[in-house]
Amino acid sequence: MTTFRSVNPARPDDVVGEYPQHGAGDVDDAVARAAAAQRDWARRPVPARADVIAGAGGIIARDKDRFGDLVAREAGKILVEAGGDVQEAVDMAYFVAGQGRSAWGETVPSELGDKLCWTTRQPVGVVGMITPWNFPIAIPSWKIFPALLAGNGVVIKPSEHAPACCELFAAACVEAGVPADLIQVVHGFAEPAAALAVHPGVGAVSFTGSVPTGRKVAAAAMETGPRVVSLELGGKNAMVVRPDADLDLAVDGAVFGAFGTSGQRCTSTSRLIVHPDVAGELVDRIVKRASELRLGDPRDQGTDVGPVITGSSSERIGAMVAAAVDEGATVATGGGPVEVEGCAGAAFFAPTVLTGVRPEHRIAREEVFGPVLAVLEVAGLDEALEVVNSVEYGLSAAVYTRDISAALRAVDAIDTGIVYVNAPTIGAEIPLPFGGTKHTGNGFREAGTRGIEQFSQPKTVYVDYSGRLQKAQIDTHPLREDESA
Ligand code: NAD
Repeated sequence: MTTFRSVNPARPDDVVGEYPQHGAGDVDDAVARAAAAQRDWARRPVPARADVIAGAGGIIARDKDRFGDLVAREAGKILVEAGGDVQEAVDMAYFVAGQGRSAWGETVPSELGDKLCWTTRQPVGVVGMITPWNFPIAIPSWKIFPALLAGNGVVIKPSEHAPACCELFAAACVEAGVPADLIQVVHGFAEPAAALAVHPGVGAVSFTGSVPTGRKVAAAAMETGPRVVSLELGGKNAMVVRPDADLDLAVDGAVFGAFGTSGQRCTSTSRLIVHPDVAGELVDRIVKRASELRLGDPRDQGTDVGPVITGSSSERIGAMVAAAVDEGATVATGGGPVEVEGCAGAAFFAPTVLTGVRPEHRIAREEVFGPVLAVLEVAGLDEALEVVNSVEYGLSAAVYTRDISAALRAVDAIDTGIVYVNAPTIGAEIPLPFGGTKHTGNGFREAGTRGIEQFSQPKTVYVDYSGRLQKAQIDTHPLREDESA
């Protein structure tokens, strides 16, 4: 079988692992194995499934350093961020396990006598999952734990840039007691993912990645069969800074939001929409901080910013910066790739601030997925909020102000799935829904108490113990009829 290599983006000579390039036939086998294992799994009581998931959380917590080091090595995240990625999976395990002993549906009083009405949830069977590389432990956990709790089997196609992380995650699940065949990992590029999305044995497809890929996956998946398709896609996240904002806080938030994970988070801060009265000072301070960030091997404790994932990512980011300059933007710092000593062949991109950006510029509208902050100066609050909403994405936004009315007006007006006040666009917590509006998704939310919805179908149950035919909406006053008899 043809194979591919996963390499350390900071040291491309360091091969993390070699994996098969699976094809459609392998996906068939994986779906069949997961489906066979799912039948027994679905018979286990929900709290028993929850106990296994809690066990997986315990194993990941026990091995957190090992997981974190692999995330840093394979995905290029600095150690502290890699640890956060892993911690998210631990938190998700415990949160989802708790849901295994929580309400599983609703009971509703019937309009008729001697009749019970309730809802329950049933598994969809096998869930096909396609995941990106940038949260290589957290994102599989957001999908796999709720899918398992709901009684499903799983076939996951992780990013070709993070196969080892997914294998380690699946191994922790098996060690915790998940039946060996219940989680199937298939590897490769587009081919196995595309086959999974349209597989007739797959009851739900859960995709996280870029908008163009997500659109293809959703269109194909819906064309070939009735199934749940959930999409978590890109962002073009804005931070609005008002003239009364605490600028120390705004500088910290912008630097962390724009350059953390080398700008490669779906929630990275990509636009700074700032009032002209404070723009000069704010930008100067961000530029100074950005130029002081230490680029290096993410596994070195002193590194602030690691590489971008591939050379072609760096080229794409560079082309977007060049196009922004052509459209009239100015590079205030950064602007291109940089060499880092000891990391030959790695793709590092300098933390970049672009000033003079207009809302119609490409750099203000398209996801960069790299360490680039576009600064737009806008005076009025309403105008600033219009600029926030003027893009096709709707994932995350932040507003920095000390004016409570302005903050709450912004919370109301901003059309994104997540809004922060006086905090950066990154930093979601797992008990709350995560996802976005417009082209960022298709209405589903991951995490939170409703994170299970994409992996299960509600079933409404009516039990009539009256011993006679009762007709809803017609026999709406059965007791009165009884009295007249
Ligand atoms: P990507 O779209 O390139 O790849 C995602 C997955 O799709 C990978 O497993 C890839 O192999 C697979 N794929 C590629 N071509 C395919 C095809 N034709 N059919 C089916 N699958 C295919 O994304 P990426 O570069 O891995 O991740 C970055 C993107 O993910 C960014 O846009 C980022 O904003 C987004 N993202 C979104 C969220 C969220 O929750 N909203 C979270 C993390 C990342």
